[in-house]
Amino acid sequence: MDKFSQVRRILIVILVLNWLVAFSKIIYGIITKCASMTADGVHSFGDGASNVIGLVGIWVAARPRDEDHPYGHKKFETFATLGITVILFIAAFNILKDAFARVFHPIAPDVTVFSFALMVVTVIINFFVMRYEHRKGHQLSSDILVCDSIHTRSDIFASLGVIATLVAVKIGFSFLDTIVASLIAVLIAKSGLEILKRSSDVLCDASVLSDAMIEGVVNKVPGIRSIHNIRTHGRKDDIHVDLHVKIDAEMHIDDAHKLSHKIESELKGRIPGITNVNVHMEPIR
Ligand SMILES: [Zn+2]
Ligand SMILES: [Zn+2]
Ligand SMILES: [Zn+2]
Repeated sequence: MDKFSQVRRILIVILVLNWLVAFSKIIYGIITKCASMTADGVHSFGDGASNVIGLVGIWVAARPRDEDHPYGHKKFETFATLGITVILFIAAFNILKDAFARVFHPIAPDVTVFSFALMVVTVIINFFVMRYEHRKGHQLSSDILVCDSIHTRSDIFASLGVIATLVAVKIGFSFLDTIVASLIAVLIAKSGLEILKRSSDVLCDASVLSDAMIEGVVNKVPGIRSIHNIRTHGRKDDIHVDLHVKIDAEMHIDDAHKLSHKIESELKGRIPGITNVNVHMEPIR
C-alpha cells in the first residue's frame, strides 16, 4: 500500500472514532443540560471535520494538472478549510450565546455516572489516537498525522477539564459548567482563526520563503552574477518561486538555458516543497 492510501486509512479510522465520541458528548450534554460536555463534543466534531478535509485534500490534490488548472488542484484543499472555519465560528458563537443566557437563568446540569463514563472513554480513545497518529506520522513522515497528534494531545486536556468540571458541578458549583463551556468556545474560535489565517495566506499569495533562503542556494550556482525580484507563493507543499538573475551578456543561449534548469533543480533539491521555478534572465556587460 502506498503512503497516501495508508495515511488515508488512518485518517478514516480516526474520523470514525472522533465523530463517535463527538456525537455521544453533544447528545448526552444536551440531555443532561451540561454545556461543557456539549462544547467538548462540538470541538471533537470540528476535529473530525478537519480530518474529512484532510481526506478530501489528499484525494483532490492527487488529481493531475489539467487545462483548466495548469498549476494543479492542491488549493482546493485550502479553499475547503474555509468551510471548517465557518462551522467552528458558528459553533463557538452558539456556545457563548447559551452561556450568556445561563448567567441570567442559571441551570443546574444533571451529572450522572454515565457522564463520567463517557468522558473517561473519550480521554482513553484520544490517548490511543494520539499515540497511534504520532507513531504512524513519523513512520510515514506525514505532516498531517504528526500535527493532528499534537492537536489530539490538547484535546485530552480539554476533556480532563470537563471531567474536573463534572466533579465541581456534582459538589454544587454549577456555574463552573458555564465558565468551562465558554473557555472551550474560545478555544474553538481560536482554532478557527488559526485555520483562517493559514488558508488566507495561501489563497492571497503571502510569501512563503525568505529572500535569504533563495539567495543562499542560487548565488552558489556558477555563472550567476546577482539575483533580484524574488517572489514566492503557494502552499507549504507546493511552493512557486519567481526570480530574476543577471548573467554575463556574452553567455550563449544554450548555456543560459542550461543554467536556468540548473537553478530550478538546485532550488527543488535543496528546499523542500518547491514545485515550480520561473527564472527571468538579464544580461550584464
Ligand atoms: Zn481538537
Ligand atoms: Zn529584473
Ligand atoms: Zn528548458
